[in-house]
Amino acid sequence: MFIRSSNVGYPRIGEKREWKKALESFWNGQINKEQFIKTMETIRLDSIRKQLEKGIDLIPIGDFSLYDHVLDTAFMFGYIPERFQQIDDTLEQYFAMARGTNGQHALEMTKWFNTNYHYIVPEIGQTKPKLVENRLLKEYKLVKETFDVETKPVLLGPITFLLLSKQYERNEWRKHLAQLVPVYVELLKQLGEAGVSFVQIDEPILVQDIDDDIIDAFRDVYEVFHSDVPNINLILQTYFDSVSHYREIIALPVAGIGLDFVHDNGENMKNINTYGFPKDKILVAGIVDGRNVWKSSLAQKATLLHHLANVAEQLIIQPSCSLLHVPVTTKHEHTLPTELAGALSFADEKLDEIRMLTEYMNGNVTIDELIKYDQQTNSDLTKFRQQQEQINDITTVPVSRTPYSERQKAQQAYLQLPLLPTTTIGSFPQTNDVRQARMKWKKGEWNDNQYKSFIKKEIAKWIDIQEQLRLDVLVHGEFERTDMVEFFGEKLQGMACTTNGWVQSYGSRCVRPPIIFGDIAHLHPMTVEETVYAQSLTNKPVKGMLTGPVTMLNWSFIRDDISRKHVLIQLALAIREEVLQLEKEGIRIIQVDEPALREGLPLKKEKHASYWKDAIMAFRLATSSVKEETQIHTHMCYSQFEHMMHIIDELDADVISIESSRSHGELISAFETYEYKKEIGLGVYDIHSPRIPTKEEISEQIERALRVLRPEQFWVNPDCGLKTRKEKEAMAALKAMVEAAHEYRERL
Ligand code: GLN
Ligand code: ZN
Repeated sequence: MFIRSSNVGYPRIGEKREWKKALESFWNGQINKEQFIKTMETIRLDSIRKQLEKGIDLIPIGDFSLYDHVLDTAFMFGYIPERFQQIDDTLEQYFAMARGTNGQHALEMTKWFNTNYHYIVPEIGQTKPKLVENRLLKEYKLVKETFDVETKPVLLGPITFLLLSKQYERNEWRKHLAQLVPVYVELLKQLGEAGVSFVQIDEPILVQDIDDDIIDAFRDVYEVFHSDVPNINLILQTYFDSVSHYREIIALPVAGIGLDFVHDNGENMKNINTYGFPKDKILVAGIVDGRNVWKSSLAQKATLLHHLANVAEQLIIQPSCSLLHVPVTTKHEHTLPTELAGALSFADEKLDEIRMLTEYMNGNVTIDELIKYDQQTNSDLTKFRQQQEQINDITTVPVSRTPYSERQKAQQAYLQLPLLPTTTIGSFPQTNDVRQARMKWKKGEWNDNQYKSFIKKEIAKWIDIQEQLRLDVLVHGEFERTDMVEFFGEKLQGMACTTNGWVQSYGSRCVRPPIIFGDIAHLHPMTVEETVYAQSLTNKPVKGMLTGPVTMLNWSFIRDDISRKHVLIQLALAIREEVLQLEKEGIRIIQVDEPALREGLPLKKEKHASYWKDAIMAFRLATSSVKEETQIHTHMCYSQFEHMMHIIDELDADVISIESSRSHGELISAFETYEYKKEIGLGVYDIHSPRIPTKEEISEQIERALRVLRPEQFWVNPDCGLKTRKEKEAMAALKAMVEAAHEYRERL
């Protein structure tokens, strides 16, 4: 059997984020449309060239996007909401849908399955789809002209597309699907006529818990594709978990089935062993982890591949999912700890692994060569981990505190806060001055002392501002932090930050997730100096500010040799240590942020309970060792909390602040049915907008909250940190907020 190599999708952003830079300069008007389109084409073709040089047989096209691939799909099929229809220029229209304009709000954005990538949610409405432009065909032809090669167009499948969209009645979804299928057929036909042989059609919805009517739809739709475009070899692609209806799926009339053999918890393999794999289909095996940054153990992968090659008649080898979720290349990393540096594999290196495994299966590379690769690359890290391996004994670490009603009294006696206390979420504007100071320090133009005294000046300035604004609980402002996970990642043992390991999060926004590579340990205080300094300047309480263990886990690349739970415990213990150090230095309010609490939720419902159990355990491990009178706060954003009240409650934080201005109504009604006893601040204004809220608007928000919450339990705070706002905006908004709270307080 001849085995081929393939890729599922390639990062868009370029080796040095050229893509982001092009987008932002176009939006800012620094380059014109022509320059923009040219730059994007260069980036796109460069990434094809690279994949060609790596010897990948099936190179994806159409995975590239100017913003997001779900938006591309909607756009290609003419799902343009009414409010954007009068925009003539299609590029302008596309970005207007993604980002909104002055008069038109953008489409909603939400998490792409269990990744940290966010897609644009299409609005279906009454639109009758049509093929506006076959961008895959255009792309296919361009690449063919440029390199004289065949490529594999990638397309989001119709069922996943519809199920991820909104603004239609769920019971009418088959009607919309019926309209969409002929358009897909038209697109596929055009590709077939142009000479395309393989098309990858992504249907990741197949790894979720899906109802039978969805499986029926799969049968119908793929039957139509099979009979109407018989000359195209469709690869039905799944990823991120095992498929939940294996037998029905392998019976679909497609040429190949793409399965994830990395993130399937062994389920896909189990199904193959139990039910076999059809002789007439290609098994498209996701072998190399597309979600993590470690080099594969090629010898182990070889064993797996031999097994698959025995079961299936035809085999294609590829990453477990699109490489969109990992950084582009390790080539530009020069500052990582030596134990770590040799163990990493980003997108480009993963493609080398795919190539090597394919060559091995085809008899051109020996097993010894694979073993040599494994030994060379992993030995350092393995040694490092073995030296440190320690079982964390957590049996003596408290995971609960004295009952809330008791500690609440102790806290009130100590803190003496007024009714409706006002506070902020932590960060204050990161101005150009702040960013430049950090640059100078990172480049070595400033020594530690110069940088530190700059930060102190900022802290002092904002303590003063907060006092003048008459806020009740102050913060130091987080000026020393670039990112709430990276900041701790740089200081904890076992965690490292890359210099160029960017991954697209949404639109042009990229993040650089830290890498957890060894045992996590708290080495020295990380936040004490700044917090204590801030406290020394005021008689009001200053709230210490930490990032919680669940968020750190969910926003990092993590070890693959120990369980997530084990990593989580290590993180929790490290944060606990910092909590205790702050407390020891007299800080009596400590906020442990968990904005990403929900982000790691598994795709399959049956696994939710154990996820929550671990998350709650970790948060409590980090926060339950403090004295009664120490008040633990937490903060959450980025999710819908209506259905999470019991989980929020179980975290057992004394005070929680929640982003809520975008879903206030639903959140407030959750308190009608859920009796929440602890203190809570439902964000009273949206910090994402430069608009200054009026005192009246804020009063209204307070009023609405107090219909379901007691005044003794309500805090007045913005939705989230003020990092991205201008100083003037932050001050004006906070002024309105404090005034509203004071007025309200007097009336109580
Ligand atoms: N304390 C952080 C801040 O204010 C919280 C950030 C977040 O919730 N994403 O910036
Ligand atoms: Zn937030």
